[in-house]
Amino acid sequence: MIFPKLFIPGPTPVAEDTLRAMSQPQVGHRTPEFSELFTIVTTGLEKVLGANKVFLFSNPATGVWEAAVRNTVKKRALNLVNGAFAAKWHTLTQACGLPCDALNKEWGLAIHPEDVDRALATGKYDVVTLVHNETSTGVMSPLEDIAGLMAGKYPDIFLHVDAVSSMAGVEIRVDDWRLDTCFASVQKAWALPAGFTVCAVSDRVIERSKELPHKGYYLDLEVLDKFYRKQQTPSTPSLPHMYGLQKILADIERETPAGRYARHQRMAQTARDWARDHGQVLYPEVGYASPTLTAVRNVQGWDLQAIYDALEHEGYRMDRGYGKLRGEVFRIAHMGAVMPGDLDRYLAAFDGVLAAMGVPA
Ligand SMILES: *Cc1c(COP(=O)(O)O)cnc(C)c1O
Repeated sequence: MIFPKLFIPGPTPVAEDTLRAMSQPQVGHRTPEFSELFTIVTTGLEKVLGANKVFLFSNPATGVWEAAVRNTVKKRALNLVNGAFAAKWHTLTQACGLPCDALNKEWGLAIHPEDVDRALATGKYDVVTLVHNETSTGVMSPLEDIAGLMAGKYPDIFLHVDAVSSMAGVEIRVDDWRLDTCFASVQKAWALPAGFTVCAVSDRVIERSKELPHKGYYLDLEVLDKFYRKQQTPSTPSLPHMYGLQKILADIERETPAGRYARHQRMAQTARDWARDHGQVLYPEVGYASPTLTAVRNVQGWDLQAIYDALEHEGYRMDRGYGKLRGEVFRIAHMGAVMPGDLDRYLAAFDGVLAAMGVPA
């Protein structure tokens, strides 16, 4: 079996040396050697994110969507929805039996501070959920501005941020921006296998959690905090992911965070230029295109299924669009372990396929 190289926005490729770093002996999770690893990983994450405290979850980010709302909503949540992932967070909030409303924006548009201001002015809400980088549409909303508005005008309202496909590819300063939770599963820009999530949490989220009953146990942030203080996790964690994070954090230190973010911006520019040079149109609202993936509106009417099949033959896994956008919008992921040279080779293979299909250059 030959595995195609992934250019889909998650999971993303994992480097060989990362896979090797993940493969280390098990240690007991109530031992000093575990706490040492826990401290290295959480301290490293806290430094990169500018966060006071980072919790580790051995589950996908969907579980942390649930933790965020179940540990904070007392009155009513406002789910900001401008794509498929944000819509799912709203569905999940409802499924938890929590009072909530969706603020729906057309797909492809960003969430703006004015949108949030108008909704919060009603006084109905105590919690806001935001997907920073909508992976389904390739749109990145202006997080710093939204958080700034809330910190200034609505300081008592909690802000939860899904940064699943932006964290580790884009700068986020959790404490400076006063984010209450900010989390990412690690199969996107962290360039690790799926099944693990890192989550920055503010002190006031822990305080709020203490006031709320029926949070369950596994996702109770109060419990996670109790174990965090002992440099432990409440239940047996995925050690390979912790070794993997240790390795990626070392990579980031070598590349420097600024260098890593600049690499993502550079690759985004390459992908956007390539799309425009082919007469295609970028899907996201102008000025809000994601630095970690590029969503292209297929105005040229390319046969995406045929391209997908041909690229698979060349050893690449292409994206054909998420959910209702399938066939209409396709995405090029350029995050994590993807290097500019990898992207250049992918786009050259794409060009080869187009030429073979007789698509005018
Ligand atoms: C991939 C993705 C998710 C889902 O992550 P899981 O780890 O599969 O739960 C959530 N939000 C965004 C923005 C994503 O890109």
